Amino acid sequence: MTIRTALRQGQQLLDDAKIAVPNLTAEVLLMHAISHERTVDRAWLHAHANDELREMWWIHYGRYLHERIQGKPTQYITGTQEFYGREFRVTPDVLIPRPETEHLVEAAKARIRHGERVIDIGTGSGAIAVTLALETGARAFANDVSAAAMAVARENALRLDAAVTFALGDLCEALAADSFDVIVSNPPYVPASDKANVQREVREFEPPVALFGGEDGLDIYRRLIPQAAHALRSGGWLMMEIGFAEWDAVRAMLAGWRAVEMLPDLAGIPRVAIAQKE
Ligand code: GLN
Repeated sequence: MTIRTALRQGQQLLDDAKIAVPNLTAEVLLMHAISHERTVDRAWLHAHANDELREMWWIHYGRYLHERIQGKPTQYITGTQEFYGREFRVTPDVLIPRPETEHLVEAAKARIRHGERVIDIGTGSGAIAVTLALETGARAFANDVSAAAMAVARENALRLDAAVTFALGDLCEALAADSFDVIVSNPPYVPASDKANVQREVREFEPPVALFGGEDGLDIYRRLIPQAAHALRSGGWLMMEIGFAEWDAVRAMLAGWRAVEMLPDLAGIPRVAIAQKE
């Protein structure tokens, strides 16, 4: 079996299983299978289309195809996801970073000044904290309730050479009053009542603790916003990703804050809530 045939067969299997972008997925999975033995990119793959597939490649590739067809996200199979131009390690203990979350990073970058204290609440893979540490020169902190998630975040900070201080913690509960200039968070915000409508890949494979924010999705904002008001200095910024149709409710919770603002994502959906402490 040649590389070309393997790609065709993989694509067909994925297509039959109604997996999105079967062509690219087959390539990514085959590259991952080969990568255990040698460095490989798409150019190499296509330049070697007539090469025989080694037995070990075929064994790995077959397993990855099977996993993907069962619904496992490609990123959990390869263990990586790109975010803001950098490669992050991901495991099923963390949410796979989404491109929409880059809007939160942009909003934070525009407001953070060099040397300020910034904390990412519920950091997961560490994507936001690591990116802000590297992009802004802030003194970056991050926490998570999940020890397993924090281990992944630590590894990402180490691999990307970002100075981030991590702690286990539930939202801003353990933070001292007036101790931060900026608080950012992409909290779990999917309504539990929406669970049946969530994509299979997300529902069955991503950590529920990173996804669901109670029955109406807003539970974490109800706790996070008052806690953040305590932990921020006067004039400090709170920036949070929000879910579909949640802006009106979140805006109402930000009564008493200054400069309350919303940024939409590329699809025009309200995505980032911004507010400044009085
Ligand atoms: N954006 C993710 C999704 O809808 C959810 C992320 C989150 O809850 N913060 O799949």
